[in-house]
Amino acid sequence: MKKVILKSGITVPAIGQGTWKIGDYADKRKQEIGALRTGIEHGMTLIDTAEMYGSGRSEMLVGEAIAPYDREKLFIVSKVLPNNAGRKNMRRCCEESLKRLRTDYLDLYLYHWRGSIPLSETVECLQELKDSGLIKEWGVSNFNTADMQELEALKLGTNCAAVQDLYHIGSRGTEYSLKTYLRDNGIAFMTYCPLAINGSLRRGITENAVIKKIASAHGATVQQIMLAWAIRDGNTIAIPKSSSEKHTIENAQAAEIQLSDDELKMLNDEFPAPDRETALDVE
Ligand code: NAP
Repeated sequence: MKKVILKSGITVPAIGQGTWKIGDYADKRKQEIGALRTGIEHGMTLIDTAEMYGSGRSEMLVGEAIAPYDREKLFIVSKVLPNNAGRKNMRRCCEESLKRLRTDYLDLYLYHWRGSIPLSETVECLQELKDSGLIKEWGVSNFNTADMQELEALKLGTNCAAVQDLYHIGSRGTEYSLKTYLRDNGIAFMTYCPLAINGSLRRGITENAVIKKIASAHGATVQQIMLAWAIRDGNTIAIPKSSSEKHTIENAQAAEIQLSDDELKMLNDEFPAPDRETALDVE
């Protein structure tokens, strides 16, 4: 499994597992737990969840799925909602997430998206959770370059370990300035919706003749090419969600696909990145 090294020196798999919309239905539970465990066994030991997902049900399902494994071999990410991202609620919410996840620390805790609580207060609270050992690292989500510059200007802002934003081959706005900014500052980029189920330009990718031809040349699916493309720079972690064992295995195997310079150029011609700053795609 291809890896990404965080600024702390911790190594994480370049493809992990998302969990949005997982844990909502009792009749799907066994299959969803099975898929997450299959993913872990195929090297996707990074699991992304959030207190928001199913109002805690996704975290509970993840807690059950990871229970048999050595906790230290996993990298668990959760997120705090904007309304909880201040002094009044953050510590309690983090502890509740830990309880649902049946663990005593998070590897990464993300501020899910910006709300009305001052950024400085949120950052102080995140740092306090880190100092007290409840989380190993903190980061932010749905932040653009201007948000990151504002964060960096805060006393503790440079401690941010990762940014999670929407990014896929049909939604490349973060390439204009954000991805370079993150690389220059040693901050990992985590891409959500890497399979373009949501976000702009989602239609047409799976039918595109060029990407289909490249997939066929690798004996791969279009979705595997999308994942291999997303993680191509060595600083990006993709977190596809799958409740299907077949898809989960395909997602893990996508980390082994090496796209050639010619293939990257063909994909670039077909799905060009914007040549100006654009609004973040969000979901
Ligand atoms: P996604 O991972 O791009 O797409 C998920 C969809 O793709 C599911 O319908 C899944 O169906 C299908 N799929 C998965 N692997 C596949 C494969 N190999 N071939 C074909 N289809 C495949 O979208 P997402 O779930 O919206 O985003 C991923 C994760 O990012 C989320 O689960 C969540 O953890 C995180 N996220 C974060 C934010 C944020 O604001 N920070 C927002 C949205 C999402 P099956 O289950 O049938 O495989």
